[in-house]
Order: sequence, then C-alpha cells, then structure tokens
Amino acid sequence: MKRICDPFSYGDGPVAQSFWADTVPLPTRTSLHGEERAEVAIIGAGVTGLNTALRLSRAGVSVVVLDAKQVGWGASGRNGGFCCLGGAMMGEGRMSKTFGQAATRDFYMTEKAAVDFVDQIIVDAGWDVDRHSDGETILAHKPAAMARLTEEAAHIDSLFGTSSTVVPKDALRQNGFGGAFHGAVTLPVGFALNPRKFVGSLAGAAEATGARIYCDSPVLRATRDGAHWVLASPNGQVRANKLVIATNGYSSEQIPVWMAGRFLPAQSSIIVTRPLSQEEQSAQGWTSSQMAYDSRKLIHYFRLMPDGRFLFGMRGGISTTESVHNSTREKIRAHFERLFPKWRHVETPWFHTGFVCLSRDLTPFAGAVPNEDNLYAAFAYHGNGVAMGSYAGALLANDILGRSDLPHPDILRAAPKRFPLGQFRRLLMYPAYVGFEVFDL
Ligand SMILES: Cc1cc2nc3c(=O)[nH]c(=O)nc-3n(C[C@H](O)[C@H](O)[C@H](O)COP(=O)(O)OP(=O)(O)OC[C@H]3O[C@@H](n4cnc5c(N)ncnc54)[C@H](O)[C@@H]3O)c2cc1C
Repeated sequence: MKRICDPFSYGDGPVAQSFWADTVPLPTRTSLHGEERAEVAIIGAGVTGLNTALRLSRAGVSVVVLDAKQVGWGASGRNGGFCCLGGAMMGEGRMSKTFGQAATRDFYMTEKAAVDFVDQIIVDAGWDVDRHSDGETILAHKPAAMARLTEEAAHIDSLFGTSSTVVPKDALRQNGFGGAFHGAVTLPVGFALNPRKFVGSLAGAAEATGARIYCDSPVLRATRDGAHWVLASPNGQVRANKLVIATNGYSSEQIPVWMAGRFLPAQSSIIVTRPLSQEEQSAQGWTSSQMAYDSRKLIHYFRLMPDGRFLFGMRGGISTTESVHNSTREKIRAHFERLFPKWRHVETPWFHTGFVCLSRDLTPFAGAVPNEDNLYAAFAYHGNGVAMGSYAGALLANDILGRSDLPHPDILRAAPKRFPLGQFRRLLMYPAYVGFEVFDL
C-alpha cells in the first residue's frame, strides 16, 4: 500500500498505551481466505464502512467488509467519543460564497441530522455505550473568544431552534467548568459515548443482518474485471459489483487510484487520567459531565467520563514518527497541566494518537465518485466523524439502494479536488499550523 505518512503511524505503536485498547478489546474477526462474492464490497471497518454495511444488509443486500487490521482499529476505535456537530473546517462565509446560502444551510442542518441519526441507532438498538453529556460545552481560551462563541451559539440556535446557555467567567466553577478558561457556551446538541463500544455494536448488528466482516485482510489492489471490482488481499479476493471506500485518514494513494492526493491525514492525541476522587474534582472545580472543547484552532477536547477518569485530547502535530509520538505525550501533558493546574499530581497512564482526515476544500465527501461506475466513497470529516462519518456511511448505502429518506446535501456530494504536492502534501500543514498556533496564543 502506498501511504504518505511514516510507517510507525500505520502500526500498533500509536495505540500501544491507549485507554480504549486497555479497557475494550477490539472485536476480532477471521481474515479472508479464498474467494468471496458480494453485491457490495466495503474497504474499512470503522463507523463509515460499518454504517454502510448495516444499512445495506438490513435492506437485504449482500455485503463484505474488509479491514487491514481489526474492527475499529482506525480512528473509530480511538476517538474522544464526542458525537457532536461538525464535519467541515471551511468557515460559513467561505462556504456560502462557494456553494450558496441554501446549500450551506442544508449542510448545517445535516450536521444536526447526523447527531440525531446516531442517537436513533443507539436508542433503537438499546446499546450500552456509556453515554453522558447533554449537548457540548465550548470554553473560551482567551477573553476575546467569548464574543465569537456567543455569536456562533446564537446563530446555531436560530438554525436549529435550540436554546444555548452562556456561562460567564465568574460562574464557570459554580457550573463545574473550573480551569484556565474565560467563559463558556453550552449547545444542547450532542452526547458522549465510548467509541469502541459503539463501533463494536455496529459490527455486531451488521453481521446479525448478514454482512460478512474480515479482519487482518488488507486490500492490496482494487482493480476492475469487466463489470466487477476485484479486491486482492494476501490470502484471498473479493469480487463485487460495487465498491465503497471507507478508509478516511488511513487511506492509501492507489486503493483505488482515484483516492491519490484527495485526503490529508492529520493527527489527534488523547491522554486519560486514573479515576479522580470527588475531592480532586472539587479542588480543580471541574465536576461537570459535559463533553467540552476550547475555542483554539488546534482545539483541546475533554470530558469527565462516567467512571471518574478524565479524557483530554489535543489536535495538531506534523510529523508522524515514533520519536514525535513520544514527544507528543509530553506536550499534551503540559497542555493538560496548564489548563487544569490542580491536577498536576494526577497520573495519566494512557496515551495514544491517530489520524483524522482533511480535504482540500475543507468539506467532507459522501457519495458516488464522479466518472467512475460503481465506486462510492466517504471521508474527510475534519476530526468530527462519530456523527458525520456514521451518517455519511448511511448516505452511501442510500445511494446504492436508490433511497432518499435521509437528507444528502450537495456540499457532501462535491468530490474533493487533489491537493498540490502529491505525496508530500503534508508539508502544506506547516504554515497552517504555525498560523493556528499564533491565533491560539
Ligand atoms: C485521537 C482522535 C480523536 C477523535 N475524536 C473524535 C471525537 O471525539 N468525535 C468525533 O466526531 N470524531 C473524532 N475523531 C475523528 C473520528 O474518529 C473519525 O472521523 C472517524 O472515526 C472516521 O471513521 P472512518 O470509519 O471513516 O475511518 P477509520 O475509523 O479511520 O477507519 C478506516 C479503516 O480503514 C482500514 N483500511 C485502510 N486502508 C485499508 C486497506 N487498504 N484495506 C483494508 N482496510 C483498510 C483501516 O485499518 C481502518 O480500520 C477523532 C479521531 C482521532 C484520531
């Protein structure tokens, strides 16, 4: 597989000390041996691929899912568990200019529809995924950020008919948001979940309705043979009429060739504390079960989990080597101590990193690949794929089934252009990240 980041980032090193890995083993499945046939083949067993598989198999379509590792091995089994609004990094102004106001509005409505979609799946199936948090809270990282947050919340309220809550700086502690922040806004949309329990439940449900899932089965080539796609894996192959690409930040340049240059993996990292006592929570003043993030460009995201452990995540990081992975652990720990100084003594035994995925236009994609028969793809959720990736997976199933019972906004159908610089395109992130770090001061 031709991939654009350091080989370390595609191995198990980045998740060797993951809290999720320690507490919820990944569902294993056998690897592919011999030839399988299916109407639809899906590459990638994360939330995108599994939602496509689940919806298709429930509709009676034969489906085979192949993953190079295990179910949820990619970002879907290592994320922060924020089922929240998001999916694009393009600002609203630019989005309106590029796609028009109506399309922009449709896109924002889809962000909420995606959260509701995941909520519905979980509630309908009665899955226990350690849910908590009533919407999400955004904390101002500097005084000037509060005005922007308040304005954005008012805009979201006018779109969704919700009522956000503004918490001034002097009321943060009393609301359980004690830390180095300058005010907060709570949007009443979204909830937190255990990502591995969610992805494992999706896999089980897809299999229960007939989907076949093979693990440790990397697709090394995806080629056409007449009207069929043929996927070659080390010990077998799959022959299918339609192919779905659900590999997001772990994509490779030639599977299939159309993907080359259209995705940009970017890092996100997480540390998790040991359980915090009530006294420790009160000493810091963070007692809320709200999932939260701050107003930086390279955001910190965090939540007190139901078992009293605190999960703290951070976006950013350019290089993906083992030594940078190790130094990121020190960096994220320093950020954690700066924002929550009363927890300087608290150990953080767990740490992992993983890839989110960006597109050149900073909007996600979900749909049929233009000018390519029977090829579908969904990727580039810009670090917010629990809801948007799940929904995008369902949209691909709908496209295949010819259904339109879920809104599918035009912005999601706009296929990502190629980045400049080919396999060296990650260099483009250097100036962007320097700019973000200046903004975040
Ligand atoms: C540390 C971290 C924290 C995050 N936190 C959040 C959060 O709190 N909320 C949120 O909404 N989003 C979050 N995200 C992003 C979110 O996890 C992703 O957007 C989402 O999981 C993408 O799902 P996916 O199924 O498209 O891809 P992935 O889950 O990345 O799955 C891709 C799969 O494709 C497989 N694959 C790749 N190539 C091949 C091949 N050739 N053959 C076979 N298999 C292949 C990989 O093994 C992998 O399992 C976070 C991401 C990270 C890394």
